[in-house]
Order: sequence, then structure tokens, then C-alpha cells
Amino acid sequence: MKHQPAVLIVEDESSIAELIAVNLRHNGFRPIWAMDGDTAQCEIDALLPDVILLDWMLPGESGLALAKRWRHHPRTKEIPIIMLTARGDEADRVAGLDAGADDYMAKPFSTKEMLARIRAVLRRRAPEQAGGKVSVGCLSLDASTHRVLHNDQPLRLGPTEFKLLQYLMTHAERVHSRGQLLDKVWGDHVFIEERTVDVHVKRLREALGDASGMVETVRGAGYRLTVQTSSSARA
Ligand code: CA
Repeated sequence: MKHQPAVLIVEDESSIAELIAVNLRHNGFRPIWAMDGDTAQCEIDALLPDVILLDWMLPGESGLALAKRWRHHPRTKEIPIIMLTARGDEADRVAGLDAGADDYMAKPFSTKEMLARIRAVLRRRAPEQAGGKVSVGCLSLDASTHRVLHNDQPLRLGPTEFKLLQYLMTHAERVHSRGQLLDKVWGDHVFIEERTVDVHVKRLREALGDASGMVETVRGAGYRLTVQTSSSARA
């Protein structure tokens, strides 16, 4: 199944939120609606979204204050934020971007514009989610068709192993701790134990067959995907 990016919509006007949600759903996204900052924080605590659409004028904490807070918190700082506002002047735009928003849309905006901006921030922040192809050594992965090939032979991977491999391939030759992998692949490291990573790495290696040596265990540090060499085959 193709990954459906979760989009958290923080918007107090239900008619606008509903319209955005319907359009997102029709275009392969998973919308989650929060009507204020507190509700949005609860949603984020439960599951990290892929993108946040954040209204400027909200009851309670303003969108600007929320953007600043999320941008400074280690758990949320990587999530792309697109500010929504009825105000379109340049001072507001600058204030929004200064607060850490990735982009800015003045209401009313078209569905086409919204989708284009969401896809753009997803591409910038996480190239592995944008549906591209990536190759490392004799492995190639196509996110749009969800296929993995080893020397042009298709491999069968479970959804979590696919996401794990996708992350490792798009960040190859770097060592990732279990905590980092949980954060990046599972999107939330709070409720999952680190040994879950080991279980999925084991399954991934089984699925990779002859290429299993490409997933190296780096003692005391974590895991790394590397182009297979004789030394990595022994690791
Ligand atoms: Ca509002």
C-alpha cells in the first residue's frame, strides 16, 4: 500500500477544515483535524503528522506561537508547517516564515495550490516521501510503485521493512541510532521500544537475501546501509 502522508489541519473554522480535509482525502492524503492548539498538540503527541497546515488566527494560542513552539521542540522541528491566513501582506508573510513556517498560503486558496505547496514541502523536507527512485549498489527502490529490485530481481518486503529500507537508502553510508530510525521511519519514538527496530532490521535482512550484508550493524551505534564490500559481508 502506498504511504498516505498524514496532514494535520489546525483550523477553528469547521467549514474550511472540512473542505480542506475532503480535498486532501481525494488526493491520497490522510487528513486529521484539530480545532485549536491544545487539540493539535494531543494529535501530535499521539502521532507525528507528515505536514501541518496551521491557521494563523485560532482561539487560544495563535498559529504563529504554535509554529514557533513546534519548530523549537526536537520531536516536531522537522515537520513541514504551512501557515494559512486571511491576511496576505508581506509583513505577515515574513513573520510566519520567521516563526519557522516552511510556506504560507493566503485564504482563499485553490485545492491545486494547496496540493502543490504540500507536495513541495514534502519533497524539500523528505525526498524519500515524494515518490522518487533511489539506487544504492545493486539495490533500487521506487517509492511510487513500491517496488524494490536487487540486480533487477523484485524483492518482497513488508510495509515497515519497505519504509525502513527507503530511509536507509535515501540516507546511505550514514549510521543511524535505533532512536533516530524510530523517529524517522515510525514517526514517533514515544510508544515503541527500540528493540522493535532490531526485529524489523532482521526481517529486512531476510527479505534482502544476498544483499543482506548491505545493512550493517554498527556496534554501540546503530545501523547503516552501505554498498556491499567484503568487509561489510563479514559484519
Ligand atoms: Ca481562524
